[in-house]
Amino acid sequence: MTRKPLIAGNWKMNGSLGESRQLVETLRHGVSAGASATMLLCPPYVYLPAVRDWLQGSPIALGAQDIADKPGTGAYTGEVSGQMLRDVGCTYVIVGHSERRALYGETDAVVAAKFKAAQAAGLLPILCVGETLEQREAGETRKVVERQVAAVVDSAGVAAFAKAIVAYEPVWAIGTGRTATPEQAQEVHAFIRGMVAARDATIAAGLSILYGGSVKGANTRSLLAMADIDGGLVGGASLAAAEFLEIFRAAA
Ligand code: PEP
Repeated sequence: MTRKPLIAGNWKMNGSLGESRQLVETLRHGVSAGASATMLLCPPYVYLPAVRDWLQGSPIALGAQDIADKPGTGAYTGEVSGQMLRDVGCTYVIVGHSERRALYGETDAVVAAKFKAAQAAGLLPILCVGETLEQREAGETRKVVERQVAAVVDSAGVAAFAKAIVAYEPVWAIGTGRTATPEQAQEVHAFIRGMVAARDATIAAGLSILYGGSVKGANTRSLLAMADIDGGLVGGASLAAAEFLEIFRAAA
């Protein structure tokens, strides 16, 4: 099964409105409708409507960096629902980013609830998983990733992965400049696909698994050459138009 490469940019809490506009203007001129890869931008919540407007007529997709763990509406001060994200043009949403897990205490259960809230609103969740350096050095990579993926598969059901994306992001590679080697990443990607395949082989074959962690123009080709790496989730390099376009072109 062919899986169309996806290159997703996670801006995190970076950039002003003016800088965002400049970035989007440059990116949209670099991505044509017939491209063989999909580009996705995940700006901060408050810039979503502006970015949607700047992207009018462009094939670049829009996503959010987070979502409330509650479906519907309600008294959840500060939270943003899946339906609200749909209203402002999002089709994707990141859930369980390691920064959310480590800095804001998101547990596997919360991540699973966010995954389900995203799908209930018709959004494609990008489920982030990955081990810390300490866990890798202790030989616990598979155990950690298995726990993080299983928490969502067990809660949402394997069928939910027909409309979801997984991103393997080793925490030690995020924002550090230390990229996992293609072989290190491939090993974990194959493990994740195997976990899903044990429950449903067809869904596993169609599942896009992105790699994230210091992806750059120079390392994209070798990462995406691996059988189970279907794209990239890009932080720092997605804020520099030329670099992000280089990544995109290497994938397309
Ligand atoms: C990320 O934030 O998901 C990420 C992978 O960041 P960076 O590309 O900067 O390592």
